[in-house]
Amino acid sequence: MTPSQLKNLKKIGMNGVHFDYPLGEKSTFRAGGNVEALCEVSSADLLRELVGYLGSEAIPYRVLGRGSNILVKDEGLEGVVILLEGEFERIASSNQANNELVVGAGASLFDLLMYCRDRGLTGLEFLAGIPGKVGGAVCMNAGAFGGQMGDRIVAVEMMDRYGSVSWIDKGELDFGYRHFNRPIDSIVLRTLVSLVTDSAEAVRQRIVGYLKEKKRRQPIDLPSAGSVFRNPPGGYAGRMIEAVGLKGRRIGGAMISEKHANFIVNIGGATAGDIISLIELIKEKVKHRFNTDLELEIEVLG
Ligand SMILES: Cc1cc2nc3c(=O)[nH]c(=O)nc-3n(C[C@H](O)[C@H](O)[C@H](O)COP(=O)(O)OP(=O)(O)OC[C@H]3O[C@@H](n4cnc5c(N)ncnc54)[C@H](O)[C@@H]3O)c2cc1C
Repeated sequence: MTPSQLKNLKKIGMNGVHFDYPLGEKSTFRAGGNVEALCEVSSADLLRELVGYLGSEAIPYRVLGRGSNILVKDEGLEGVVILLEGEFERIASSNQANNELVVGAGASLFDLLMYCRDRGLTGLEFLAGIPGKVGGAVCMNAGAFGGQMGDRIVAVEMMDRYGSVSWIDKGELDFGYRHFNRPIDSIVLRTLVSLVTDSAEAVRQRIVGYLKEKKRRQPIDLPSAGSVFRNPPGGYAGRMIEAVGLKGRRIGGAMISEKHANFIVNIGGATAGDIISLIELIKEKVKHRFNTDLELEIEVLG
């Protein structure tokens, strides 16, 4: 961005704008470079103004949640990363029904689960232990233990690149395996989810059960971005990586987890380059042995 663009950005976003922000360090991988500017946005009006400005100047932007499904390259990222805060963190019952919630994209999945537990609402417990935000979970159609975010969604509110906002019903939305097909540059603002009433204690127990299971299966004590590769049709990326003998392989500060071979963990001081080198090694070995091209589930930015 030019100095005058940086100045204008500061004018629009005020104290919520941070230049040369260490995005990689703040992602759950805790590796990678900086973004030119990070903007914390707490209202739809401000978001509209910001998106309008960025669009008019052709400055690239993207919204991030918790950064738990991304890898920022060491060289960093040009343009602007937007974080949704304030009004976007709200969770409330819908006016129509007590078992329907309107959830802001900036709310954490943890807060959403605690809200559901306290009110005895079941249907989202499978999200336990996924360290993302609601917007990220919608965009990734996050899932585990046979459940996925899209199954509970009734409608999604989105802002397009011109700043216009609309609710789109489930029937017109396209959710797939770890994927939500939406217009380019559209921003998820809120989602309406439909749940079922149950006792708070039953919801709590299921959350605890899933957390225990995740802890047993996944290296959640070390920085990572969860599963690195998508499971190929009819197979499991983790089993393939294990079969080619790569569990425990290290490059620099990055390691293919001993506990779950589809996780690459930062065991201390990993660079994004270390992680990318392991990704390349996995792809090469799996291609050679299984003639399968593994696709990334995480997104590499920069
Ligand atoms: C320990 C661990 C365990 C995990 N377990 C699971 C699991 O069981 N199942 C699973 O599915 N995933 C899992 N993940 C991956 C990740 O947590 C999920 O994909 C999560 O939904 C990502 O949410 P986020 O807020 O971090 O998204 P981010 O990583 O911040 O963003 C993901 C993508 O969504 C886009 N995006 C985010 N918010 C918005 C928005 N409001 N509008 C438009 N675009 C947006 C971003 O630009 C990016 O393209 C795990 C990760 C870790 C570290």
